[in-house]
Amino acid sequence: MKNIYAIGVGLIGGSLAIDIKKNNPDAIIHGISRRDGTLDKALELNIIDKKATLDDLENADLVIISIPVDATVKLLPTVLDKISDTTLVVDAGSTKVDICKAVEDHPRRRNFLAMHPIAGTEHSGPTAALAGLFIGKTNIVCEVEKTTFKLQEKALKLFADIGMRIRYMNPEAHDKHIAYVSHLSHISSFMLGKTVIEKERNERDIFDMAGSGFASTVRLAKSSPEMWTAIFKQNKTNVIETLEEYINNLTQFKELMQKDDFDAIFSEMESTNHIKDILKGIS
Ligand code: NAP
Repeated sequence: MKNIYAIGVGLIGGSLAIDIKKNNPDAIIHGISRRDGTLDKALELNIIDKKATLDDLENADLVIISIPVDATVKLLPTVLDKISDTTLVVDAGSTKVDICKAVEDHPRRRNFLAMHPIAGTEHSGPTAALAGLFIGKTNIVCEVEKTTFKLQEKALKLFADIGMRIRYMNPEAHDKHIAYVSHLSHISSFMLGKTVIEKERNERDIFDMAGSGFASTVRLAKSSPEMWTAIFKQNKTNVIETLEEYINNLTQFKELMQKDDFDAIFSEMESTNHIKDILKGIS
């Protein structure tokens, strides 16, 4: 793996580039992005060694695509058009159905491996990139059988070297499950933030009164709207289904309050405390 091309050098692309370079010091990390200033920043932070363009991709041993999922759907077929027979292409997108569909009939489909590293923060851009972000985290790999065996092996070694464990899933199951554990949490956080901002027009008061509970619950509302709009658009059906269940639970909670049924409210919270056991071991 000598020539590595990172398309997108933000939180995920930048963090992957840092860890892969650490394990492969002889590799050259080439950065590709929409804005030149983003590549300048990535160079300054030593995330990439060189700036590049899509026309350079025929020299690539590995291409890592970490850009918003709508941009990935558009760009991935072009990337596969431009690579050589031996190039491995991976994408890190948070949705998998539309991305896999976009290249299902591409002559170079076997050069592509679809993945979703379950790691991240609410920050974005090259300054958000972190060394060691993926240690002990899960990488969901979809449709592994559609990638040539030799490139699968390369990819799996690469992920193991940066500390990730692999789970295999089909794209439909991925998008359905991730809607609950990731996409709904982001909507919940964004709308909690909105509710409090609308009510507390004086932001200084929020700041003074906000405890760590508010800060941790609303943390995801700092996430990139560009990235999340694309995710909600691609996973619309699953996300609406999770939202309906969530809204039902909120409505039921309100009705119990209106009926002064605080025994039922106690039971609701007590049975949900079971989340402690479910989350054990997740840092
Ligand atoms: P990010 O920090 O915002 O970085 C994405 C970068 O993509 C931006 O810096 C932007 O650079 C570039 N970009 C946007 N549109 C582009 C285009 N059309 N062509 C080339 N570059 C483009 O986002 P991220 O958190 O790394 O997310 C990247 C991907 O990983 C997304 O698909 C996301 O769903 C997925 N993911 C995110 C997380 C998470 O927790 N954040 C976790 C797992 C997977 P410019 O400044 O040049 O526009």
